[in-house]
Amino acid sequence: MLVVMKNDATAEQVEAVIAEIQRLGFRGVPMPGAQRTAICIIGNKGPVEDTGLRALPGVKETIPVTKPYKLVSRETHTEPSVLTIGGIKIGTGEPVIMAGPCAVESEEQALTIAAIVKEHGAQVFRGGAFKPRTSPYAFQGLGEKGLKILDKVRRETGLLIVTEAIDSESLTAVEKYADIVQIGARNMQNYSLLRLAGQMKKPVLLKRGFAATIDEWLMAAEYIMSEGNPGVILCERGIRTFADNTRNTLDLSAIPSIKEVSHLPIIVDPSHAAGRRDYVIPLSRGAIAVGADGLLVEVHHDPAHALSDGMQSLYPEQFTELMREVKRLKNCL
Ligand code: PEP
Ligand code: MN
Repeated sequence: MLVVMKNDATAEQVEAVIAEIQRLGFRGVPMPGAQRTAICIIGNKGPVEDTGLRALPGVKETIPVTKPYKLVSRETHTEPSVLTIGGIKIGTGEPVIMAGPCAVESEEQALTIAAIVKEHGAQVFRGGAFKPRTSPYAFQGLGEKGLKILDKVRRETGLLIVTEAIDSESLTAVEKYADIVQIGARNMQNYSLLRLAGQMKKPVLLKRGFAATIDEWLMAAEYIMSEGNPGVILCERGIRTFADNTRNTLDLSAIPSIKEVSHLPIIVDPSHAAGRRDYVIPLSRGAIAVGADGLLVEVHHDPAHALSDGMQSLYPEQFTELMREVKRLKNCL
């Protein structure tokens, strides 16, 4: 349930409503809006008896929330959320481009690719230091050493850093160095990791699980938000289907579906969806056209020798072309 306060409700009246919600055995999370504050009740398993709440000073009305997710829902936050992260805004309609290699391989590799993507307009550098690989024999990432390289990339280029945490241990390390902490497809339903990510101060890029429905994905985001972290960005990266022409099937319908029911920003990763670089530009065009708030793209200066996902990494010239097309498309939209 949502308790909507009057326009002129005081901070004390908001506090009193939260205290009453607590007395009822639930939690009240204030959601300040442009016009007025609403307080979302969480922790209830069924409908809440609202007569006492409606009678409190400053309360305008109470609205039942019909979805199983609450904090991520448009029912509790009608306007799209805009996240401000180190000077960039995500969710404004202007696409934010996050680009870089699949994995950080060396300082030289990371700095070379960072210079390329920065020159052509990326705002965020991506690169995994902890890699969740299908094979235990594949390159697993440089770990903390990789995070230190990413820190250097930030200092030298001014790009923000997004990098993945794969478990609670790496989360502690990643939180120290990253501007945005990525939770990957394989961990989308790792509820203990989601809770820990919810307790951090850093925003989270939550990728869609291979076989997750929209509701399951939003419930995963709800785990993060219910722990107090409002900074969640969703990332559609393709799902498992019977189709084998691509590595995964990019579900572009997820973007309007998410925007209909949630206020969270959503970006698209065409690289892990396609699995091949020649499809990345066309899929990116589609993503921008359906209203994605940004792209997460793999780029490598020498993909033939990349230690992971070389096949789907754009050549620098292709990244330049992608940026040109995104700009053109945005103008024509
Ligand atoms: C990645 O971004 O490098 C990655 C491993 O992505 P996903 O979790 O979508 O497979
Ligand atoms: Mn990858």
